[in-house]
Amino acid sequence: MVEYDAVIVGAGILGLSTAHHLKNRYGNAQVLVVDKLNAAGQANTAKSAGAFRCLFHSRTNFALADSSAEFHRHLQDDLGVNLKLRWTGYLWLFDEEGYKQMQPVLKDLAGKSFECKEYDRSELAEKLSIQTNFNGDEEAQLMGLASVHKGVFIPKAGLIDVDSLVKFYESEFLKLGGKIQYGTEVKNIVVEPREPLGVPGEPFFWQDSRAVGVDTNRGMIRAKKTIVAAGAWVPLLLDPLGVECHVKAKKRQIFSVKAKTDTLKKLLWTKGFSPVGCLPFTILPKPSIYFRPALEEDAFWLSYGDEFPRAFQVEENPQPEEKFYQYGIYQVLAKYFPQFKDCQPFSSFAGLYAINTLDGQPVIFEENDLMVVGGASGSGIMKADAIGRIAAALYSGEEYAVLYGDRKFKVSDLSLKNRNVEPEKLVI
Ligand SMILES: Cc1cc2nc3c(=O)[nH]c(=O)nc-3n(C[C@H](O)[C@H](O)[C@H](O)COP(=O)(O)OP(=O)(O)OC[C@H]3O[C@@H](n4cnc5c(N)ncnc54)[C@H](O)[C@@H]3O)c2cc1C
Repeated sequence: MVEYDAVIVGAGILGLSTAHHLKNRYGNAQVLVVDKLNAAGQANTAKSAGAFRCLFHSRTNFALADSSAEFHRHLQDDLGVNLKLRWTGYLWLFDEEGYKQMQPVLKDLAGKSFECKEYDRSELAEKLSIQTNFNGDEEAQLMGLASVHKGVFIPKAGLIDVDSLVKFYESEFLKLGGKIQYGTEVKNIVVEPREPLGVPGEPFFWQDSRAVGVDTNRGMIRAKKTIVAAGAWVPLLLDPLGVECHVKAKKRQIFSVKAKTDTLKKLLWTKGFSPVGCLPFTILPKPSIYFRPALEEDAFWLSYGDEFPRAFQVEENPQPEEKFYQYGIYQVLAKYFPQFKDCQPFSSFAGLYAINTLDGQPVIFEENDLMVVGGASGSGIMKADAIGRIAAALYSGEEYAVLYGDRKFKVSDLSLKNRNVEPEKLVI
């Protein structure tokens, strides 16, 4: 039986970025990617809103997102890979309390020469026709909606075409001689003793054991290194081996509303924020519903990351919930933006975040020849390039990974045993 140098489980954005960077460094390595689906990036990668931002407070987040965005810029501007990057920016709306809490963070960031621009409530009201003041609105108060005090606009942020990024990694990996096998479902990871005795029932607990590959619906695949990049499904493969990864799945939903009326068209094509001449990716103060301009559809994508009591649950095909829009998103949105009154979504979809419950940052670690790359926690697209480079550095046993732009990143910072991740203060 062929033994690969590495088998990667999962052809989502993390598995593909890892595969590409690994093969890029080790041209001779025999690397196989397998996925249960029939094409690349069809699971949660396909469900992404495709938004990115470089403004983070934690050093880790910033390193991962900023270097990846610079790599995307390089691909598009210097190498002509069309990722349909749109630098629409992010517009973060705050109430008075939220803005006060953000002050030290923004001051700190200003010292590090981050670019951002503040808008006060009257400017926002004029530019966006947004309702900024809920004083006297009993209904809004009952719903706990916060008045808008300030907006912070971040220009180094925007939208990327996820499918084009997936295709880039997939085709580069194949060009380098990597192999991909779709329609291949991993049933379990195979563990054997390093020094097999040929006795039935091995491995015994007193033997030194390691992962030697995967059992699939198409037979066993042997590999020197088994790399699990299976997104929300990572724990299903690791739990049976007693390997903790601190990754849990949570449903997230997106509703698409057409900019049908003149007022909605005006909002979608709001001028004056970015050179794109459209509404930035916008986050409301409380609850922090976000909406993304979907220019190709002449629509807005609306979403909210609900927490308690939303279950941690792995679902094969999560469905959007009509009620979540009807009684949730719509009610809040129409208060802030009366332009959305009576607007129904024309399409919707749902996917799963693979949330790292420790700190919301990715996990990249290895034990017993089993590597884990996951827990992107809702920002895997914007960090995938850096994550792939760190995973490739871990594969080669290096202490530091070199991210795009020659930035060094300590590989063990994203491990579990020697984790060193700062808490993020700019959370959506
Ligand atoms: C609604 C929503 C909006 C989002 N918006 C953004 C955003 O704006 N920006 C951003 O950066 N991120 C966003 N994300 C997060 C982003 O989509 C993820 O972080 C990223 O796609 C994770 O990639 P992945 O490769 O880890 O997982 P996946 O894309 O899910 O890939 C995992 C792969 O593993 C395969 N697999 C699983 N189990 C097995 C098995 N047993 N055998 C074989 N194959 C297996 C699956 O088929 C799948 O293809 C969003 C996510 C959702 C759900």
